[in-house]
Amino acid sequence: MILRIVKDEGPITGEQIAERLSLTRATLRPDLAILTMSGYLDARPRVGYFYSGKTGSQLLGEHFRKLMVRDYKSVPAVCQEETSVYDAICTMFLEDVGTLFVVKEGGILTGVISRKDLLKSSMGSQDLQNIPVGVVMSRMPNIVSCHLDESLLDAAAKLIRNQVDSLPVVKEREESDHFEVVGRISKTTITRVFVEMGLGKSV
Ligand code: ADP
Repeated sequence: MILRIVKDEGPITGEQIAERLSLTRATLRPDLAILTMSGYLDARPRVGYFYSGKTGSQLLGEHFRKLMVRDYKSVPAVCQEETSVYDAICTMFLEDVGTLFVVKEGGILTGVISRKDLLKSSMGSQDLQNIPVGVVMSRMPNIVSCHLDESLLDAAAKLIRNQVDSLPVVKEREESDHFEVVGRISKTTITRVFVEMGLGKSV
């Protein structure tokens, strides 16, 4: 009812809305605060309330764009190019992840190895202890990554567009073309945020 009144009569003061509803201004205060904070109403001092005209999904989109990679990234699971395919499979089980980021000294990203990459190399009856990850991984510069200051929405769009399960979060180093791995954003990260938002938890 508040939204309808403001839509029809705005700008309108809190006092006037309270009058229309036969309530006191004090009773209405928390409702007006919620509607303003969630973006349905705009409030201007000494003028009153305006209807923002934004739909629920527009407001949700605005909220989503404010979530940043730096606040949601998880710890990356890594291995080296020299690591054997056998050991990489063990690491995946131990770390409970589906993708390992391949790094050299200083945590510099050189590649990514996924479940399917490992399955592929396991199909021939080769000695998995003697195949290095470097032979089967996807390699830089063809790795899709994201930055700490990127929005979670942009990272999610990259996951979908590139049909991959996870992105390394990287920090650019002084030396050009060197990216240090500082985190991980996976489809699970996005799903967790989606569920928390749906359950009304603050994310
Ligand atoms: P899975 O192979 O387990 O389904 P993905 O769909 O993530 O996992 O991987 C598909 C292919 O894309 C693999 O060959 C993998 O090496 C590669 N890949 C995975 N993540 C990335 C990424 N962030 N950037 C580039 N290539 C990737």
